[in-house]
Amino acid sequence: MTETITNWAGNITYCAKELHRPSSAGAVSALVAAGARVRVLGSGHSFNEIAEPGPEGVLLSIAGLPPVIDVDREARTVRVSGGVRYAELARAVHAHGLALPNMASLPHISVAGSVATGTHGSGVGNGPLATSVREVELITADGSAVTVGRDDRRFGGAVTSLGALGVVMALTLDLEPTFDVEQHVFTELPLDGLDPAVFETVMASAYSVSLFTDWRAPGFRQAWLKRRTDQPLPGFPWAAPATEKMHPVPGMPAVNCTEQFGVAGPWHQRLPHFRAEFTPSSGVELQSEYLLPRGYAVDALRALDAIRHTVAPVLQTCEVRTVAADDQWLSPAHGRDSVALHFTWIEDTAAVMPVVRRLEEALDAFEPRPHWGKVFAVPAGVLRGRYPRLDDFRALARELDPGRKFANAFVREILGD
Ligand SMILES: Cc1cc2nc3c(=O)[nH]c(=O)nc-3n(C[C@H](O)[C@H](O)[C@H](O)COP(=O)(O)OP(=O)(O)OC[C@H]3O[C@@H](n4cnc5c(N)ncnc54)[C@H](O)[C@@H]3O)c2cc1C
Repeated sequence: MTETITNWAGNITYCAKELHRPSSAGAVSALVAAGARVRVLGSGHSFNEIAEPGPEGVLLSIAGLPPVIDVDREARTVRVSGGVRYAELARAVHAHGLALPNMASLPHISVAGSVATGTHGSGVGNGPLATSVREVELITADGSAVTVGRDDRRFGGAVTSLGALGVVMALTLDLEPTFDVEQHVFTELPLDGLDPAVFETVMASAYSVSLFTDWRAPGFRQAWLKRRTDQPLPGFPWAAPATEKMHPVPGMPAVNCTEQFGVAGPWHQRLPHFRAEFTPSSGVELQSEYLLPRGYAVDALRALDAIRHTVAPVLQTCEVRTVAADDQWLSPAHGRDSVALHFTWIEDTAAVMPVVRRLEEALDAFEPRPHWGKVFAVPAGVLRGRYPRLDDFRALARELDPGRKFANAFVREILGD
């Protein structure tokens, strides 16, 4: 059987001619044990070759396995199979009166694929989505099952693992009591006057804050504040309240976005920007994102402003978020409270890549760590210097996968294997 398998954006066509869809855990073990090289495809929302198994490799999806979403109300945890998407998980968790602490901009992405790449939302107190994970269940290279929990010495490498340790069959996540969120959108927040103290105050003015700009003019076109209704609503004197519903990408319909104008609703219908039943973002795009220490935020924004005439022609929207530090060895937020500078580009790789390189030059002094699932050009040797626990991850990968069955070209380059 031959099929053309692409990522969500369509900019990557995987070499694999077949997407294996085993229907039981036993079949996953057998496939892994028999394969020379194996990569798992989650929901395919990454923009680079992170999931590419290579010409000799096997690409497999566990999305067809019977979904498991076991909520333990007493313990406030959920055990979820890796192929389940956040939209489905969130609905089930909410039905039990519980919540995840945060979500990405879209709920369409798989849980295992998201935490593997360090996917995050926003909020000065919110770590990446992987922060909620307390246990990971893997099928490793010889087909055997391995469970790694928070007390295990291997845990720091086990969640944000770039898919390099094995097939993540299930994860157990911490939950909290459900909460409501209101979304307030403001327009035209100037860059002038945004000193580090003001930036901190702006980004801490709600549970989750995002700033958007197209860099066609200095400053931000939109500020999105997601306020938990159990937390105070401070004033927001830096910009004017929006007078109509907005989409972060100019020209796209606001109906695709979650409810605005301060209408309270459940966490999972407000924390993502995009509704589960619509195409997220523009749908015709590439993306890049860089996490840097938050103390550099304003200097980095000024560096971007200085090259905005280069960036704007290939940009659909730029989003600024905050991510609290975490402990995962390969997390872009590892050990650093971060500002995340995100770019939704036009879908033209040839036009976008020179701008990505120029952007990376402008940000280089701020030690950016690129999002693992998005487009970047930072050399692997430079990146290795930005991950102090990289050697620990490499040793863990050798321990769990001595033949490096789960290491594709992307992972080998990053690890310097
Ligand atoms: C429109 C859009 C909006 C986005 N918004 C955000 C955002 O708000 N915040 C953010 O941080 N990112 C965002 N992203 C990026 C996205 O979250 C990441 O690319 C994420 O990895 C997607 O999950 P996935 O399941 O599609 O992963 P895939 O792209 O399918 O895979 C990513 C990696 O995970 C591995 N993997 C997947 N499943 C398994 C498994 N079961 N076992 C082992 N390894 C596995 C793959 O091998 C690969 O290495 C966005 C992407 C899109 C397209």
